[in-house]
Amino acid sequence: MVSKDVEEEIRKAALKNALDYGKARDSTVINTVLSGFPELRADIRELAWAVNKEVSRINSLGKEELEKEAGAYRKEFEEKEREKAIRTAKPKMELEGAQKGHFATRFPPEPNGYMHIGHAKPVFMEREFADIYEGGLFLYFDDTNPEAERQEYVEAFKKDLEWLGIRFDGEYYASDNIERMYSYAATLIKNGNAYVCLCPVEQVKENRSTGKECVHKKQTSAENLRLWNEMIKKERDTGILRYNGNLKDLNTAMRDPTLFRIKAETHYRQGAKYSVWPTYDFNTPIMDSMKGVTDAMRSKEYELRDELYYKILDLLGLRKPRVHSFARLEIKDNITSKRKLKEFINSGNISGFDDPRLVTIASLRRRGILPEAIREFVLRFGMSKTNSQVGIDMLLAENRKLIDSRAVRMFFIERPRKLSVGGIPAEARKIRMKAHPSEDLGFREYEVGSEFFINSHDAISLKKGSLARLKDAFNIRILEPGGDTIKAEYVEGKGNDLLKLQWVSEGNYVDGKAISIGNLLSGDGFNKKSMVVTDGYIEGYASELKIGDIVQFEKIGFFKLDDRKEMTFISM
Ligand SMILES: [Zn+2]
Repeated sequence: MVSKDVEEEIRKAALKNALDYGKARDSTVINTVLSGFPELRADIRELAWAVNKEVSRINSLGKEELEKEAGAYRKEFEEKEREKAIRTAKPKMELEGAQKGHFATRFPPEPNGYMHIGHAKPVFMEREFADIYEGGLFLYFDDTNPEAERQEYVEAFKKDLEWLGIRFDGEYYASDNIERMYSYAATLIKNGNAYVCLCPVEQVKENRSTGKECVHKKQTSAENLRLWNEMIKKERDTGILRYNGNLKDLNTAMRDPTLFRIKAETHYRQGAKYSVWPTYDFNTPIMDSMKGVTDAMRSKEYELRDELYYKILDLLGLRKPRVHSFARLEIKDNITSKRKLKEFINSGNISGFDDPRLVTIASLRRRGILPEAIREFVLRFGMSKTNSQVGIDMLLAENRKLIDSRAVRMFFIERPRKLSVGGIPAEARKIRMKAHPSEDLGFREYEVGSEFFINSHDAISLKKGSLARLKDAFNIRILEPGGDTIKAEYVEGKGNDLLKLQWVSEGNYVDGKAISIGNLLSGDGFNKKSMVVTDGYIEGYASELKIGDIVQFEKIGFFKLDDRKEMTFISM
């Protein structure tokens, strides 16, 4: 049973839907309710039944009754309309100062993990801007941290980007330019703009927060150059190169930040060639400038570091790209941080980086989310700096719009009850059902015997002597509703107003599993109902499906075939 709150939400959604479109539709109402109560996704069948009941009731009301019942919610409905208008407004795609025909930007992932929805936002925007401003988009691997980076992540990024359909106009790697970075470092040192600090890490941290200078800041250029050369020749195993700024700077990012540090690990691309590696703060402006980037985008968390970005280029006399900030996109009740992902995998809560509950690109692909849906979804936020923490339902709704017309309708019988129907004439035994109510997707055809299975949920409401309809097949009269097998007989007629029963026929169904995906987190922790498996019988047509095919289990929702051996379907 659904709660009172949910019941009211269903009523409101059904009323609104009926007012807007004349008739309410189950699927629309279910999705509206889910956006307010995402946790119900775990028990979507319960919801579906409640919605079906209420929608039938609302659709049977006359216009006057409908208006009367909706009256109580009038204000709320108007408020919703306003919100919707804001949500659906297209953001202005504009970058201050950007010039048509003279434009280049880049997507700069670090290959230290898997691509997720948070990366999809900038890369789709960058591609969009590159097209709007008739310029180029480069793929730039920011790979100067040998500890964490791997070739497999480079490959995974490329695979995901290709799947998303992102075109690039070039590709380059920070780690291929280390010699050049070294020579720029030497220039800074010679000009007194950088120094080698030999303080322990903790000391550096403390001095930075207290604004205290260390002895190394007073070293001569010659001394710094000597130490620096020892570092890059691997003759020293300690030391960092720091920007020579002001340790009392109000912008904490300018308090002598680290430009290079020693990392002795083997690099996935450069091997053991280097042990001194530039930081993000140093290599990003230089790479952007060198490669002809005119407009660089990064999330607003980096805004404090813009000053350093420009400063480095100023000191080296290099061309300065424009930097634009935007808000990061985060999905509510989900995780993307590498540390958290590892924690969840190690604890067995999720199966891997492509677990369908996650928002990695591999997960979304596996779940059947289309690249176009991801694109539409992320572009909505534009360059806004307002933090966008949204539920995944917005993305799922975008996806449903795209898959609806290609999803074959199908019956999924949960907790099957046996039904035996007597007196079916030969001509009624050949059943032909449309695979889609409005699109031309062909037919599902069955030759039935006398034995069927129906949902237990439906079975409860069958009374002795009552009429019902096996959906898209024929009418039956219930003779004996109780017992192991429900007994019924064939009845001729159309049966428009009868209770419609989903069914499978004996000898023509497959055992399968429908997996409902809910939010990964609830509150602060793992949501134990994030994945709910329901066993059932699926009509025989399912055996013709291939992995990746999308179906709509009637009254339940869209599912994608994930595994053929077990006939496992994942909710979308
Ligand atoms: Zn020092």
